[in-house]
Amino acid sequence: MFRISQYMRELAAAGATGAYPTVRPRPQKGPQGPVVIWNLIRRCNLTCKHCYALSADHDYAGELTREEVFTVMGDLRAYGVPVLILSGGEPLMRPDIFDIAARARDMGFYTGLSTNGTLIDTPLADRIAAMGFDYVGISLDGLRATHDRFRRLEGAFDRSLQALKLLRDRGVKVGMRFTMTAMNAHDLPALLALMREERIDKFYFSHLNYAGRGNIHRGKDAQFQATRAALTLLFERAWEAAQAGLPEEYVTGNNDADGPFLLQWVQANLPQWAPALAERLAAWGGNASGLNVANIDNLGQVHPDTMWWHHTLGNVRERPFSAIWSDTSDPLMAGLKQQPRPVQGRCAQCHYLPLCGGNTRVRAQQLTGDAWAEDPGCYLEDEEIGAVAAPGSAPHGPRQRITIPIREPIHA
Ligand code: SF4
Repeated sequence: MFRISQYMRELAAAGATGAYPTVRPRPQKGPQGPVVIWNLIRRCNLTCKHCYALSADHDYAGELTREEVFTVMGDLRAYGVPVLILSGGEPLMRPDIFDIAARARDMGFYTGLSTNGTLIDTPLADRIAAMGFDYVGISLDGLRATHDRFRRLEGAFDRSLQALKLLRDRGVKVGMRFTMTAMNAHDLPALLALMREERIDKFYFSHLNYAGRGNIHRGKDAQFQATRAALTLLFERAWEAAQAGLPEEYVTGNNDADGPFLLQWVQANLPQWAPALAERLAAWGGNASGLNVANIDNLGQVHPDTMWWHHTLGNVRERPFSAIWSDTSDPLMAGLKQQPRPVQGRCAQCHYLPLCGGNTRVRAQQLTGDAWAEDPGCYLEDEEIGAVAAPGSAPHGPRQRITIPIREPIHA
């Protein structure tokens, strides 16, 4: 996840004080595990076009029981996992979701819920608010016509927007989750306006990833120029909010080139702070799959992140998550934990590699069969990444790298 607002607030503070704020890593006791996105159930009442879980409205056999989930949670806590995002399918279709959420909250996890929102009526909103979720993310893939087409359900937009309002009115921190494609990019400005109008706390912009139904629809993915325009709009929006002191958060996911792209925006608009921002982005380090973010699916299988369901590292029924996650005998995990990652092609030549981490490896693997090939979803030009071929040489010839200090990741 790339936290645009966090950096924009730092830049605003730098402008106000004349010094870029110092950010110290939080002191931590014991190990620091990854954020765990947990797909507790595969069943869903919707069949969205871009669903990576390929869910349907029927039960799936072999899902983790409540007792098994509780056992895993004990291991996750001991391993220092700070955050659980309870997801699906549609997690609210799991009868014991509130038992699981209560346990997570009582054990001290930051507990998030990722839902399509269509099942949330007033009584359920009351229950969610009483539960004390730290955050609830609800997907909106555009305005009414676009969203209902994506979700294949007439009225889905109205129900999801109503859920956002019900939860907002009960003091729950809520966010819109938007996955952009060529088919909904035109709705982004209006959706951002709706967010502000409805006082929604957070906007999560997800780049379409090439997995699940996203893979089938790869040919319809937004073109890179549309991506750049969308990111520029988000930067402007987040900068405006930071300067005005608005409590709006803008984050992105599934394309870590967003970090270097923000650096370029700052170089163009706030050049005096670009070196400090470059250091902060290097401390972030880019893609966190296999490092600071993990996925457990409904069957208990562990994956480097939610887009790697075709690659299983182990099952929590057979080995504790902590043992699976720290095991680097799997070549993919070994590579993801390597610093820098063994990326090839333009990623290997890119001077932004310490900031981006080589981006989303599943995209490279899906397109080329090689998880370490260059990320085909990078929207930066060769000139921008420092990979301009000299006359007469092969494209993407080696170039001198910019030296950017690498620090331990900071968990905001
Ligand atoms: S070329 Fe690769 S490493 Fe460089 S910004 Fe793009 S995805 Fe990241």
